[in-house]
Amino acid sequence: MKRTLIKDALAAMPVGTELTVAGWVRTVRNHKGTHPLSFVNLNDGSCLATLQVVAPAALENFVSEVQRLSAGCSVAATGRLVASQGKGQAVELLASRLRVVGWADAETYPVQQKHHTFEFLRAQAHLRPRTNTFGAVTRVRNAISFAIHEFFQQRGFVYVNTPIITASDCEGAGQMFRVSTLDPAKLPRTPEGNVNFAEDFFGRQTYLTVSGQLEGETYACALGNVYTFGPTFRAENSNTPRHLAEFWMIEPEMAFCDLAGDADLAEEFLKHIFTAVLTRCREDMAFFAEHIDKTVIDTLTHIAASPFERLSYTQAIDILTRSGKSWEYPIAWGGDLQTEHERYLTEEVFNKPVILTDYPAQIKPFYMRSNDDGKTVAAMDVLVPKIGEIIGGSQREERLDVLVEKMKNSHLRPEDYWWYLDLRRYGTVEHAGFGLGLERTVQFATGMANIRDVIPYPRTPGSAEF
Ligand code: ATP
Ligand code: MN
Repeated sequence: MKRTLIKDALAAMPVGTELTVAGWVRTVRNHKGTHPLSFVNLNDGSCLATLQVVAPAALENFVSEVQRLSAGCSVAATGRLVASQGKGQAVELLASRLRVVGWADAETYPVQQKHHTFEFLRAQAHLRPRTNTFGAVTRVRNAISFAIHEFFQQRGFVYVNTPIITASDCEGAGQMFRVSTLDPAKLPRTPEGNVNFAEDFFGRQTYLTVSGQLEGETYACALGNVYTFGPTFRAENSNTPRHLAEFWMIEPEMAFCDLAGDADLAEEFLKHIFTAVLTRCREDMAFFAEHIDKTVIDTLTHIAASPFERLSYTQAIDILTRSGKSWEYPIAWGGDLQTEHERYLTEEVFNKPVILTDYPAQIKPFYMRSNDDGKTVAAMDVLVPKIGEIIGGSQREERLDVLVEKMKNSHLRPEDYWWYLDLRRYGTVEHAGFGLGLERTVQFATGMANIRDVIPYPRTPGSAEF
């Protein structure tokens, strides 16, 4: 069987073309009477639209099988494209053969063609990709992933794979998941009574990575411009619509680059991604605009076209203080911004993405470069409407003595980071990078309210089904 994708059949093929399509039944209408007919709406995941298959009574299995079809059955249909009689589609398939590949029990099939809540569908995460929303999310996520590689490859960045199991903690990024093969019922002990991790698999304590940045820096300081794109893990116990325990992060790192260059890359990068989604996912984006968030296409179009606002953390604190708003979390120079503050800046003050720079040193990790004022570091966050922070980045501290001092202030042992410090000992260069969360990007592009609905199998506190 040579299968034609429904996307191709609907987009380009002239009436009269003979072809075979295969997919899952969305709906069936059986016409009774003197000229019985079945209308079978088929979706194969290649696009949002279904292809209507018209099955005439002349089919040999018309009574025995076709009329018994229901949502969820898989079928392969061969026939000719004809102009559609009904509205909503230009062509339909007049079947000369319709083979049932797999039956689905109509009584128990969980994702019938009716409205299901996203909560319900999370419990059916293995079948939810068969719904319009999750099919569309999956295709947009795919288009974004491709656009990300495309963006960097066009600019000569080298894709590197940093380790998922790591002994170094990218300080400040988040709580870590321990990786261990020790038997919790029989933990080896040191003479002092502590757990003896020397007997663990790696002979030391290891974790799932919270960021590939430190290792990414080592490759940037050799290959120039690099990026990572991989899974990241944070054991932060935050049950929010924007946090996952397992998410995908993209981390470019550039040698001979300062904070301004880093911000330029971040802005170009987001514009490239959103332009790609707008031009390559038209049908899915129209679906999101109609059913999920009616502003989503206008928002992406606006972002792709207008320059981002850039201001310092200190200027932002000033605006927030003078806003006259009553904040749930009070504003004070030196404190971290909360989502309410980030959203106020992007949604009410500037109405576009905002790049905040030069945060207080005390709320940022040791590796960010100290500014001359002695109080701030060369950090940047890119904030977007609704989501808040979508990118976090910085220029890295390239001066050995300053970096060692900062580590000691953070109660880190420089000898644990000997290889990281070697970059500053041997041919140090100014360099900068950032991290973009893939799921927050998909959320922003689609308008989906909950991050659990833009990754196939969300991992959140108390939940790791599937
Ligand atoms: P937040 O303050 O929102 O928790 P963060 O400051 O911990 O984010 P970074 O450590 O700078 O974030 O990570 C870089 C990017 O990774 C963030 O801008 C965001 O897009 C994404 N990200 C961070 N934590 C999560 C998470 N738990 N789930 C999904 N994406 C995340
Ligand atoms: Mn966080």
